[in-house]
Amino acid sequence: MIKKKNIALIAHDERKQDLLEWVKFNRGTLSKHNLFGTGNTGSLIKKETGLKVTTFLSGPLGGDQQIGAKITEGEIDFLIFFWDPLESHPHDPDVKALLRIAVVWNIPIACNRATADFLVSSPLIDEDYKRQVIDYSKRYVH
Ligand code: PGA
Repeated sequence: MIKKKNIALIAHDERKQDLLEWVKFNRGTLSKHNLFGTGNTGSLIKKETGLKVTTFLSGPLGGDQQIGAKITEGEIDFLIFFWDPLESHPHDPDVKALLRIAVVWNIPIACNRATADFLVSSPLIDEDYKRQVIDYSKRYVH
């Protein structure tokens, strides 16, 4: 019995084709899990692969922040985020915030294809995995 993961998929415009190719290549594995995505990324994946993807707003309109909020609520287990290393964006602060919150909550993050390949081929993807979360609250009690 595989343990379904909630996987968020996001790609900046110049990286969307790379992500789409990766999703197509890993379609079999990904189809066993619950997929989420920012508006345009999620719609593209749905259209091109037929996979079911729950979409949020487009990244620049708050989609990255919506996914960040889901991470804090324990509803996203895994983040595949192909951000564009050669362009700045109006929502760069949101991108930084999302990557930060994923680290706070100890979510696996892949920002390039090689890391995504390693993550998706890990035996842990089909198992129950207990994420350890550091209790940061003590640091802010004076
Ligand atoms: P998009 O957003 O999937 O709606 O294009 C991605 C992003 O730019 O963060």
